[in-house]
Amino acid sequence: MHSPGATLGVMGGGQLGRMFVHAAQQMGYLTVVLDPDAASPAGWVAHHHVQTGYLDEQGLAQLMQRSAAITTEFENVPAAALVTLGAHRPVAPGADAVAICQDRALEKAHFGRCAVPCAPHALIDSEAQVGAADAALLPGILKTARLGYDGKGQARVANRDELVAARRAMGGVGCVLEKRLALAAEISVIVARGADGTMVHLPVQRNLHRDGILAVTTVPAAVDRDTETQAVQSAYRIAESMEYVGVLCVEFFLLTDGSLVANEMAPRPHNSGHYSIDACDVSQFDLQVRTLVGAPLPVPRLHSPAVMLNLPGDLWTRPDGAQIEPDWAAVLALPGVHLHLYGKTQPRRGRKMGHLTVTAASAAAARETALRACGILG
Ligand code: ADP
Ligand code: MG
Repeated sequence: MHSPGATLGVMGGGQLGRMFVHAAQQMGYLTVVLDPDAASPAGWVAHHHVQTGYLDEQGLAQLMQRSAAITTEFENVPAAALVTLGAHRPVAPGADAVAICQDRALEKAHFGRCAVPCAPHALIDSEAQVGAADAALLPGILKTARLGYDGKGQARVANRDELVAARRAMGGVGCVLEKRLALAAEISVIVARGADGTMVHLPVQRNLHRDGILAVTTVPAAVDRDTETQAVQSAYRIAESMEYVGVLCVEFFLLTDGSLVANEMAPRPHNSGHYSIDACDVSQFDLQVRTLVGAPLPVPRLHSPAVMLNLPGDLWTRPDGAQIEPDWAAVLALPGVHLHLYGKTQPRRGRKMGHLTVTAASAAAARETALRACGILG
């Protein structure tokens, strides 16, 4: 195990990197972040910020020189960079697992290998495949195979004409056409797997999305036991068969017919796991540190029901476009409120500026306080 005092490296300087850095520093590790942005949320708080591109040889060399082990905080870190780093330092998760998660087609093939059902789909790499796509996949959602997030790189298509138009609008890049499913709920499972194969998971989360972006996470998820067991076992199989080391999130759809299908996965801590900082005795970021340094993985315990609200840049913007500051004093007057702001200076619409976790003695009380917070935030 790398003991406290060692330096841990992170590829990427967003909010996930920032919360990793906080967790690592709390345990006495030093941190170094590589991110091209001078004002990155994690770069601000890390001991060292290597400010270069992700493929910059000198930047990667500096990161390696300083780090005992290296992790990533976003899935689109170029695979080549992870290969370079992995040749000289322990890197978790590894380049192979990240490569699968970076591509919806590879991801779905991996679900298939693990006997985990996913939405009916077809790969759309050419105009010919548009014509050949099964009519049963419509109405559907066309998703770029790579680089999509927060509902970006997606188009809802009702028929073949819309499919043709959407593919053109996306510039003809490789896509996956997915059947649009009737969702009863969305849940996610966050698994941590150590290099020795030990696996633990956070309690299952229930997630509500608005415009393709996560808005609210509620824990406990209040789904039936069998569904929960199936989701956790699926996530374990998915992690195990990639020989995954680190924190992995698998998103699932619970369909109106009661069945469960995997949607996508993220090779890192996930927005839906942020509640674990305040509501669990070990958070997803603590687990990321532990998997990276080779520390034991305790089974996380939820000590408070929780509701997590994302704070998008919209809250800083009035309908007429003028900038305002949310009424933090009123929010912080509520019981069991934990405010997390990521230090981003530009509150653009849809940009994740922070989150708020409400903990309470009961799920109903957490919900009630969260509703009051929503009323204040508007
Ligand atoms: P992202 O990478 O942007 O998170 P997702 O594939 O998770 O992309 O899609 C974002 C959201 O869009 C999902 O959380 C879900 O609410 C909705 N969605 C995606 N795929 C489907 C589908 N096949 N059927 C119904 N809703 C879907
Ligand atoms: Mg998603």
